[in-house]
Amino acid sequence: MSLTGFLRFLRHSLQYLESSLIQTAGFDRNLGPALALHGPSLLPQPQHIRDDDSPEPSFLDSIFWMAAPKKRRTIEVNRCRRRNPNKLIEVKANIEPCPECGNLKQKHVLCGFCYEKVQKETSRIRKQIEIMEGRPHNTPTVETVVLYDNEAPRDVDKEKRIVERSRKRPSWFHP
Ligand SMILES: [Zn+2]
Repeated sequence: MSLTGFLRFLRHSLQYLESSLIQTAGFDRNLGPALALHGPSLLPQPQHIRDDDSPEPSFLDSIFWMAAPKKRRTIEVNRCRRRNPNKLIEVKANIEPCPECGNLKQKHVLCGFCYEKVQKETSRIRKQIEIMEGRPHNTPTVETVVLYDNEAPRDVDKEKRIVERSRKRPSWFHP
């Protein structure tokens, strides 16, 4: 709905409410307004029929004019602005070596190299599950335990799905 339409709707609703209130108060329904005020120009005014001798509206009237710079800024001024120290990228001081692999990483941020290893191991485990049980939609909704070399299932893990990996447990994969 356009703004004009919405305002018209609002005006009709207010008129309806006013007449309802007057009726409930027991007054005559066709009571004229006691006080007439000039409304704000924001509300849509009735369209006057344009006289034939008035000039045609120019196409410039429909353009929304925007501010434009009056003078060109020199390249020196532009470079000073662009290379302002406040705008340059800050040097990071929160870099530390990863305790697992030794690659540099940001503090309190997961190491990208280690994360890649986790992703690869996870996809291998998923593939193994797929080989064991068929497509993912056949898999039961049970907890999964991943066992690596020289590991035996605990008593708690008996009813869970057990995936056995024929390799040493990675240092980052805690049981
Ligand atoms: Zn790492």
